[in-house]
Amino acid sequence: MGYRTVIGLEIHMQLATQSKIFCGCPVIDSGDYPLNTVICPVCLGLPGSLPSLNEKAVLFGVMLALATDCHINETSIFYRKHYFYPDLPKGYQITQYKKGLANNGKLFIDSHSSSKMIRIRQIHLEEDAGKIIHESDVDRSLIDYNRCGVPLVELVTEPDIESSQQAVDFVRKLRQIGLYLKICRGNMEKGNIRVDANISIILDSGQKSPRIELKNLNSPRYMKKALDYEAERLSRALFNVEEIISETRLFDQNENITKPMRSKEKDDDYRYLPEPNIPPIEIDSTLLDKARGAIPEMPDSKIERFTVEYGISEADAAILCNTPSVAEYFENAASATPRAVITTANLVLREIFSIANREGVDFDEISEAIPAKKLGQLSRVLHEGKITRNKAEIVLLEIFKNGGEIEEIIDRMEVRTITDLNVLQKAIEEVLYSNRTLVERYNCGEEKLKGFFIGEVMKKTAGRANPKAIIRLIENQINKMENR
Ligand code: ZN
Ligand code: MN
Repeated sequence: MGYRTVIGLEIHMQLATQSKIFCGCPVIDSGDYPLNTVICPVCLGLPGSLPSLNEKAVLFGVMLALATDCHINETSIFYRKHYFYPDLPKGYQITQYKKGLANNGKLFIDSHSSSKMIRIRQIHLEEDAGKIIHESDVDRSLIDYNRCGVPLVELVTEPDIESSQQAVDFVRKLRQIGLYLKICRGNMEKGNIRVDANISIILDSGQKSPRIELKNLNSPRYMKKALDYEAERLSRALFNVEEIISETRLFDQNENITKPMRSKEKDDDYRYLPEPNIPPIEIDSTLLDKARGAIPEMPDSKIERFTVEYGISEADAAILCNTPSVAEYFENAASATPRAVITTANLVLREIFSIANREGVDFDEISEAIPAKKLGQLSRVLHEGKITRNKAEIVLLEIFKNGGEIEEIIDRMEVRTITDLNVLQKAIEEVLYSNRTLVERYNCGEEKLKGFFIGEVMKKTAGRANPKAIIRLIENQINKMENR
């Protein structure tokens, strides 16, 4: 007997504003500053301090709402959400609740090459809480208030997600949108994006499980594991007619299982009250125009344009457009060498990514060491057949490690392709005359030996021969030897 999975997500994204949402403290990533040094009376909630709303946070929220096709509410309101926890010094979080910034949006995800629409129930603004650091080895916990008041946008989906993979695809897509809009730094390891999931299952018989909340699914890999584990656990419990309590659970990354955290609070427990110190947000046409004007070309249209304008395959275009920085790098390189655009795309997709992988660095470091213009120049040299692909990677690696100019490196490292036919002919004759029995076998139909001959000629020329040119020369030479 089978079952269906029903998942809804609540995603918190830290907004990349200069300052916090209700005070002038700078927004920083956790861990970048000593504990409790980026704080003030407002974000600590000291008596008598007054919050004032950061306009940029509102603008960023509206941009996200526009990019996800939401209806933007003309008026939205902040509330106090009361709960007691050491990382929340005020004793309440200022958040939008019933009247959020926007509602009823949608986002399309590409899951297994088919597009699926996920409805968005609400987008609202709120402040982040501090961070508790458990030091289990010395049996104590520290509280860092630096994160208090960092602006968050919370996005709540409808329960339209049908698998752990779709959940991961949704978060990836949202992260990509955040990066394109430049409203979120998108670093999940640093907690810039944090995900909670609601999951339930429905057996083929129609029987439903209660809803379980999974907290803090902060990497795509763990999110997938946690959701898969939980779906299995719920289905087993339903089959075996065990009691299932609706509760909040946490994923244990060491044991790869979810564990109960607490029974679920009801909305009433939070004693929501309108925040008296912040007037309602009014979204007027000026702000809407500003937000619309700040939205750049988004990934889906960029992919489409890359296929039409450059003739790149959709799959390759999707990889190039995965992050805006790669797309921009490619376009800058391509504009330096308009006739070799496909070569440029391939250099980015294969050589540049493979260097990043092998050297264990991120793309920003590569693009800084190998400026787009240089990649464009190299792609022209490659396109004109002056070096081979293998040598192109060697040149790129040299620029990455030590810098330098393309032509100078090509000469110094002696990687220029041999165009002198006499030199190639001599190498080919040496290879074929010293392998006469193999040549005979080739003539008797062992076609695959051609690859061996090519390899030997490449060895003799230190990989500086153009493979296409030598195939032709090898064939000619074998014919000559046969006719003799
Ligand atoms: Zn502050
Ligand atoms: Mn929240």
